[in-house]
Amino acid sequence: MYDYLVVGTGLFGAVFAQQMKAAGKSVLMVDKRPHIGGNVYTEQMEGIHVHTYGAHIFHTNDQRVWDYITQFATFNRFTNSPVANYHGELYSLPFNMHTFNRMWGVVTPQEAAAKIEEQRRAAGITQPHNLEEQAISLVGTDIYEKLIKGYTEKQWGRPCQELPAFIIKRLPVRLTFDNNYFNARYQGIPMGGYTRMVEHMLKGIEVRLNTDYLAHKAELDALAHTVVYTGAIDAYFDYQLGALEYRSVRFETEVLDMPNFQGNAAVNYTDRETPWTRIIEHKWFEFGLDDNGNEQPKTVISREYSSEWKPGDEPYYPVNNERNAALYNEYKKLAAQEKNVIFGGRLGEYKYYDMDAVIASALALCDRVKGEVQT
Ligand code: FAD
Ligand code: UDP
Repeated sequence: MYDYLVVGTGLFGAVFAQQMKAAGKSVLMVDKRPHIGGNVYTEQMEGIHVHTYGAHIFHTNDQRVWDYITQFATFNRFTNSPVANYHGELYSLPFNMHTFNRMWGVVTPQEAAAKIEEQRRAAGITQPHNLEEQAISLVGTDIYEKLIKGYTEKQWGRPCQELPAFIIKRLPVRLTFDNNYFNARYQGIPMGGYTRMVEHMLKGIEVRLNTDYLAHKAELDALAHTVVYTGAIDAYFDYQLGALEYRSVRFETEVLDMPNFQGNAAVNYTDRETPWTRIIEHKWFEFGLDDNGNEQPKTVISREYSSEWKPGDEPYYPVNNERNAALYNEYKKLAAQEKNVIFGGRLGEYKYYDMDAVIASALALCDRVKGEVQT
């Protein structure tokens, strides 16, 4: 009998398990995949750490999260600066003076601000109600048309008028020449890969891979006092209220016999016609060097194709619109009635969490659990 059965070895499960083990509890983890780490899993190909489930750049402003995660890995100084490719025209991301100069020929921050204001006024937007209006009000119609509309509609499979404004607010807009994608005090990639980092977190914890909790629920439940479930909440309840919507992603990964394919870790294809959303060239997360500091003669790239989730696909992105928020709230009520089961993580809480937020959320859960035990 274990104190905790943790379903899912992604970051939420890994933080919870690590903290509980350190607090003297017994923990069993299961994952239906053949490896640990959830979506941050990396695998070695040609001496390169490949981000199997899409590019993962760690960034945070949360001191507690940074102090926590750096116990398990040293992070390099990688700064994310994706390039947008619109029909062969290249633009700097996120939206900054390099982008505005390339788009309009403007040279000063004042000229750029005036151009954005002119386009926003022409569009007649005062209070943005959806992603399209929010985007135009932040950066104007030209940038919306070339760098946002096509990419977003491919990524989410819905018109921008039907998407929530908050999605585009993830991206900074700067009237400076700073093309760092994130406004975070700390940023980087764990040296040696995310898998090694999670291995360090899970040291001494029993993990059963290739084990689908939902397919063996009764027998696994019998092994532990409390279950921490980080899979999809609607799947847990066998979709009895209907399925929540997710976006899935297909990764097409190729080894190329050349040292440099695109010269950058991420290139976003922002036009509607190119079928993929972005191409990741993994070696540039680590400056083209392997674990021993040697240059790699080959390169590995992944094209990402976004699609609507259907049963059997991996759910990646919750689609946070009103319909799904209402349905999730119904599932949350069911979850509250489950005895000795805690739901957490991107899928368990149906929330568009970044890695640092998922770690913060798991640490907060640990605080609550430890507090309850003490009182
Ligand atoms: P997951 O990593 O999804 O882990 C859940 C685990 O549960 C999985 O291993 C799964 O196999 C397992 N599981 C599910 N159901 C069952 C079951 N029935 N039985 C057993 N096991 C089960 N965040 C950033 O901060 N920076 C980024 O650059 C970034 N890029 C991203 C790119 C993509 C394409 C995606 C999809 C996400 C990205 N994120 C990024 C977000 C990041 O991946 C998440 O915040 C984080 O990985 C969530 O951890 P988790 O433990 O909640 O979920
Ligand atoms: N986005 C865009 N053009 C880009 C990059 C992003 O329009 O070149 C929009 C898109 O709607 C995306 C959102 O900004 O979903 C958030 O981007 P982010 O890179 O944070 O997405 P993620 O890394 O989570 O896929």
